[in-house]
Amino acid sequence: MMMRQAGLRASRPSAAARRVAARGLSSKTTGEYTVVDHEFDVVVVGAGGAGLRAAMGAAEQGFKTACVTKLFPTRSHTVAAQGGINAALGNITEDDWRWHAYDTVKGADWLGDQDAIAYMAREAPKAVLELEAFGLPFSRTEEGKIYQRAFGGQSLDFGKGGQAYRCACAADRTGHSLLHTLYGRSLAFDTSFFVEYFALDLIMDSQGECKGIIAMNMEDGTLHRFAAQATVLATGGYGRAYFSATSAHTCTGDGGAMALRAGLPIEDPEFVQFHPTGIYGAGCLITEGCRGEGGILRNSEGERFMERYAPSAKDLASRDVVSRSMTMEIREGRGVGPEKDHVYLHLDHLPADLLAERLPGISETAKIFAGVDVTKEPIPVIPTVHYNMGGIQTLHTGQVVNPTKDDPDRVVPGLYAAGEAACASVHGANRLGANSLLDIVVFGRACANHIGETLKPSKKVELPAGAGEDSIANLDKIRNANGSTPTADLRLRLQKTMQNHAAVFRTNEVLAEGVVKVDEVVQEFSDIKVTDRSLIWNSDVIETLELQNLLGNAACTMHAAEARKESRGAHAHEDYPDRNDKEWMKHTITHFDTETGKVKVSYRPTHQHMLPGEDLEPFPPQKRVY
Ligand SMILES: Cc1cc2nc3c(=O)[nH]c(=O)nc-3n(C[C@H](O)[C@H](O)[C@H](O)COP(=O)(O)OP(=O)(O)OC[C@H]3O[C@@H](n4cnc5c(N)ncnc54)[C@H](O)[C@@H]3O)c2cc1C
Repeated sequence: MMMRQAGLRASRPSAAARRVAARGLSSKTTGEYTVVDHEFDVVVVGAGGAGLRAAMGAAEQGFKTACVTKLFPTRSHTVAAQGGINAALGNITEDDWRWHAYDTVKGADWLGDQDAIAYMAREAPKAVLELEAFGLPFSRTEEGKIYQRAFGGQSLDFGKGGQAYRCACAADRTGHSLLHTLYGRSLAFDTSFFVEYFALDLIMDSQGECKGIIAMNMEDGTLHRFAAQATVLATGGYGRAYFSATSAHTCTGDGGAMALRAGLPIEDPEFVQFHPTGIYGAGCLITEGCRGEGGILRNSEGERFMERYAPSAKDLASRDVVSRSMTMEIREGRGVGPEKDHVYLHLDHLPADLLAERLPGISETAKIFAGVDVTKEPIPVIPTVHYNMGGIQTLHTGQVVNPTKDDPDRVVPGLYAAGEAACASVHGANRLGANSLLDIVVFGRACANHIGETLKPSKKVELPAGAGEDSIANLDKIRNANGSTPTADLRLRLQKTMQNHAAVFRTNEVLAEGVVKVDEVVQEFSDIKVTDRSLIWNSDVIETLELQNLLGNAACTMHAAEARKESRGAHAHEDYPDRNDKEWMKHTITHFDTETGKVKVSYRPTHQHMLPGEDLEPFPPQKRVY
């Protein structure tokens, strides 16, 4: 391995680095890689809403900060969020952050950590007003206040006062506005962006402290070790472990997998949120508003099956009920298409002018992604993975936790996580709409705040001997992998296994089969076939690394789901239809052994308490009815 010291600030490698990389390329059998070392106070992995807010906050306080991202920042999945961001601003009706906290605890089906939930709800108005001050172009009321719309699961007066108007938005482009605002803002400080760098692994020392990361510059294959006092993982979710997901193809759970490879667990992975109507294959979201305008779901027999499952609300029953009913139809052989694995959403009985006026956006989406003219044909839809409630376990400060039996909140020094990659856990078993954009800014900010409170800029960090060698060996193995299974084939098998076995609707039998199948897929990774051996923009290698990351997340999801013998939030178990607080009001902790591919499942207690001095009592468990 060749080592070279360099203080690169920009994302472009020097000409010398390029030349050395070219030499590495020509001597592919020697496994020669260029390694460039960087020193920072803080390294943030990810430039979605969570990563940008953390990076901006650290840089603002004078910490030398790197933001390493595989995508150009404004291409992060945050850009796709439409609906908005919750905060009890009280611009439309009277509101109170405590009511928002109650709704979130209830939405989470009492699995969420109440201290973190109260923290998020209390900080929400500040976080949203801060975004406004940064220039986020929110929609406005007549009086010029931030406009707030109604959203699911949001109530007034602890569920007794009717619908709350708590969701602040910028039309239906809130995520887009938020991401661009934060990117612009982060450039105001001295953050060094390493764009189109793929983070491979955490660098941990023998004491279990995090000392930074190792990443690959995808442009030229050079490797980069970042030594830092604090590392923040903000890599987003792993929706792409499933066949159909509303999330971007880049949502492959890289941060969670980095944690797993470092021996750290991921928490509550079995809780995966499904939206009933994603476009079959493409996965793009088709809004619930379609059914609101009179859209109807039909099976292969042309039957309006929702009449059987929800006789009064029919197609407008709640998301989990509709998703479960659709899955039942498919499993009982009444799905449509060659593989009978989806259903149809009909809008073609509605007047064309109504579709043009009320649903122009999804009419266009259906045309582009399903090739369907909604005035004449049905849209092929499938319950589609939308959000990962689980992730890298953190405290409300963003500090990553590696629990032991005696200390369920044991902190990993030097390591933080925020956003969809993390599990604070504010969403518990089910996330409420518009609480994720809130989560990313509140906890991105919390990481920066905690770093500011506990660290001083410019402290030198020594990397442990041999730092990053295992990652380079893994990269080299994958780059030269010469098995018989193409990456795309194995990924498809994984995605179909997850879609069919860790779905909206679960049984002992389906989950037991799922565990066997996912374990087989994990084992088959050793037979992977990569055809491109180069180091320059090698998307074959990157997709294979992403598949490797998906496998760990997916295996943990399946095993955790199989182990949980109750129904709670998004985990709807047919054989155990009720929530069982006595035995199961606890977080799942999953470890993944990279060598053997084995998953270990254990548990830790939930935080049914508030932070010291919090002006709110914990909410005792109740039955969750809406
Ligand atoms: C279609 C859609 C609509 C949504 N609508 C809403 C909504 O209206 N309201 C709401 O609250 N929530 C919504 N959500 C959820 C919410 O948008 C996401 O949970 C949230 O934006 C995730 O932000 P993040 O910063 O955690 O991650 P992301 O925005 O996904 O960013 C991840 C970042 O990590 C980087 N990264 C990942 N892996 C690596 C690696 N190996 N190396 C380097 N960098 C890496 C990427 O480059 C990227 O910058 C929606 C989600 C979807 C998919």
